Amino acid sequence: MNKEGSRFVKTSNIVKVEKSIRLLHRRLTNIRTNHIHQATSAVAKTKPRAVVMETLNVSGMMKNRHLSQAIANQKLNEFIRQMKYKCEKRGATFMQADRWFPSSKCCSGCGQVKTHLKLSDRIYECDCGLKIDRDLNAAINLAQLAV
Ligand SMILES: [Zn+2]
Repeated sequence: MNKEGSRFVKTSNIVKVEKSIRLLHRRLTNIRTNHIHQATSAVAKTKPRAVVMETLNVSGMMKNRHLSQAIANQKLNEFIRQMKYKCEKRGATFMQADRWFPSSKCCSGCGQVKTHLKLSDRIYECDCGLKIDRDLNAAINLAQLAV
C-alpha cells in the first residue's frame, strides 16, 4: 500500500509512531540517569568516611547477547563515575575492590571462602552457622576493606 513506484515510503502515521517510540526511549534514558543521580547523592549525603564498590566484569557480562543490551542500559560505569566524584566533593574516600575480590563468596563472619556459590543462592549459609542475605554479606565484606 505504501509504495511509490517500486520503493516503500513511510506514511505519516508510521513517522508519527516512530517519533513516539523515540520519545519513549528518551524518557526511559532520563529516568535511568535520574535514578543514578538520586542513588549516588543519597549515599554521598550520609557523609560516609569511605565508599567501597565492587569492580564488576561488565564487558564479560555483555558477552551474553541476551543480556548485553539490558546491562548496557544500566549504565554501571556511569554509576561508578558519579559515586567517585560525589565522594571527592564531600571528602570521602572512594575505593573499588579488586575484580577478583570474593565479596559474595567470603563469609563475613569467619572469613571462609565458599567455592561453590550459585547466583540462585540468595541466602549465604556458612559452616560456622552464619545465615545472612547474600548481598548484605557482600556489602559487609566490601565495607571491611575500608577499615
Ligand atoms: Zn563463616
